[in-house]
Amino acid sequence: MVIIEDNILKVKKRISLICSKINKDPDSITVVAVSKARSVEQIKETIEAGITDIGENRVQEAVIKYKSLTLSAESGSAYGGNTQHLTPIKWHMVGHLQTNKVKDAVKIFDLIHSVDSLRLAEELNRQAARIDKIQDILIEVKTSQETAKFGLKPEEAIEVIKEMANFKNINIKGLMTIAPLTVNPGETRPFFRMLRELRDKIKDTLPITHYPLPILSMGMTDDFEVAIEEGSNIVRLGRVIFD
Ligand SMILES: *Cc1c(COP(=O)(O)O)cnc(C)c1O
Repeated sequence: MVIIEDNILKVKKRISLICSKINKDPDSITVVAVSKARSVEQIKETIEAGITDIGENRVQEAVIKYKSLTLSAESGSAYGGNTQHLTPIKWHMVGHLQTNKVKDAVKIFDLIHSVDSLRLAEELNRQAARIDKIQDILIEVKTSQETAKFGLKPEEAIEVIKEMANFKNINIKGLMTIAPLTVNPGETRPFFRMLRELRDKIKDTLPITHYPLPILSMGMTDDFEVAIEEGSNIVRLGRVIFD
């Protein structure tokens, strides 16, 4: 309990500090606690410490945790047993999504960060329509050729996003990237900058009313401060919260 709570306090301090440096409101940064391979108990501790955005990278694991947390919330035992102050959890899919998992994914996720093909968007649109949902998504962009396995190439992104405009049951909220692993967090800056510039270019190129793309999901444990400096407003944090 103490460790996760302490870690979150420290993370919030670091975010406040970097935000004051660049004159940004720290409340404009959403921390997603990436809880893959962590327990439901650990997620509860995270929620009690004030982080209610939870990220997972596998649909099946997320469904199990989702059910478990929903059940304990209904019986009043989650969040200290106080049903009066139930905090709604927002679920984020941050890992690669296979088309055969989409049907389950649209049932639980508030935001899917990892849409990297027209085919996947089409299936998301279809399954979201079946349950009468508008699914919020981000487009994953491969900003570094060497390391990232998934994501659209930056030069493909505009065309693909344009095509996705036909899908009425998905809502493209922004872009996501995973920077290459480096020893020095400063080295990830160009990749984050590339994502921000791409977002701005898409806004300039496509009809703006359709594509305000307010979200940039970038920055993890080793590089979230650099990412925030480059315009990130969702950081996805695992180790710095749970270890
Ligand atoms: C695991 C994971 C994270 C969190 O990584 P840390 O380095 O532990 O903060 C963020 N984004 C994605 C896509 C992940 O898979």
